[in-house]
Amino acid sequence: MIPFVDLKSQYLSIKSEIDKTVLDALENTDFIGGASVKNFENEFKNKLGVSHCVGVANGTDSIFIILKALGIGPGDEVITVCNSWISSSEVITLLGAKVVFVDIDPVTYTISINDIKEKISPKTKAIIPVHIYGQSCDIDEIVKLANENNIFVIEDCAQSHFTKYNGKNVGTFGIAASFSFYPGKNLGAYGDAGCIVTNDEDLAIKCRMIANHGSLIKHAHNIEGLNSRLDSIQARVLTIKLKHIIDWTNLRISKAKYYTENLENIGDLVTPSIRFNCSHSFHLYVLQTRFRDELFQYLSDNNVQVAIHYPKLLPFLPAYSYLNHKTGDFPVAEDFSKKIISIPLFPELSVDSQDIIINLIKEFFKNK
Ligand SMILES: *Cc1c(COP(=O)(O)O)cnc(C)c1O
Repeated sequence: MIPFVDLKSQYLSIKSEIDKTVLDALENTDFIGGASVKNFENEFKNKLGVSHCVGVANGTDSIFIILKALGIGPGDEVITVCNSWISSSEVITLLGAKVVFVDIDPVTYTISINDIKEKISPKTKAIIPVHIYGQSCDIDEIVKLANENNIFVIEDCAQSHFTKYNGKNVGTFGIAASFSFYPGKNLGAYGDAGCIVTNDEDLAIKCRMIANHGSLIKHAHNIEGLNSRLDSIQARVLTIKLKHIIDWTNLRISKAKYYTENLENIGDLVTPSIRFNCSHSFHLYVLQTRFRDELFQYLSDNNVQVAIHYPKLLPFLPAYSYLNHKTGDFPVAEDFSKKIISIPLFPELSVDSQDIIINLIKEFFKNK
């Protein structure tokens, strides 16, 4: 069986360091806050190239907290993309604002600038572009458009740790950005974890307050907030993993390249394109074919774990039936969502496994 991701082999490759730091946390009862969290926040912000990092409990809370800190609420509209994980949109509604979904670009699969232009209204307060699968959105254009319209840009970087746009890491372009360290993400903790990054000091302080019951010092609750903190053990794990993230990202990139070189000109298969002047951190390697369902079955039957990101566009989930979207509202993404299939890609994936997958795909298309 070739798994979709293999978290065990990554753990084994760094086992001695991880075991030591986790045992250290237990010995020192280092559970919440303290030096290990501060240390991770510092190292992450320095590596990313941003001035503030606030560790939080997960990558959903991080978006929620940023929006809350920016004062987004009832009467406001927030634009996000129709092809993402529900975190990108559910936090908007939870704050009482209205989510406005937009279509994707057919080449990069990221949020469509033209459709953003169509959907900006006087009520639009923020845009949440998602650097989906590890591919950067056209973030300069989005920031430019947002500035012209006095709108905040909050980057959802849950799938794009150390993806570069014109030489700069994504997450450093908008007013703030959200990262998830869910175990399966490119930089993954051993449980839930996330962070907020920003160059705006006031916003960072506000986010930290909201994540800590509205207080920076014990018992000084200036506002109401949440309990959404980064655990010390997770911060320690992430600090160790952060040392390897660039190597792991480069491995993903070279393995993606190997797939693409070997999967070109096969049937109607479309391999991922990479935005000009950008890097793609390949959280996911997503192919397109109109034989998607058959290929999914074929690879599964041959012991290759595959997945679909995502089988249903957000506007068509039951949670959003109240928006009354209909077929044709998101033409590009609707067509795309019927054709996409994600195949295994992780830093520890062997060339042998890749060859097995490539040959199975070639075999499948022989009869097409
Ligand atoms: C994983 C993910 C999130 C949420 O992260 P959690 O840490 O699981 O809350 C948000 N947005 C996108 C695009 C994601 O893939």
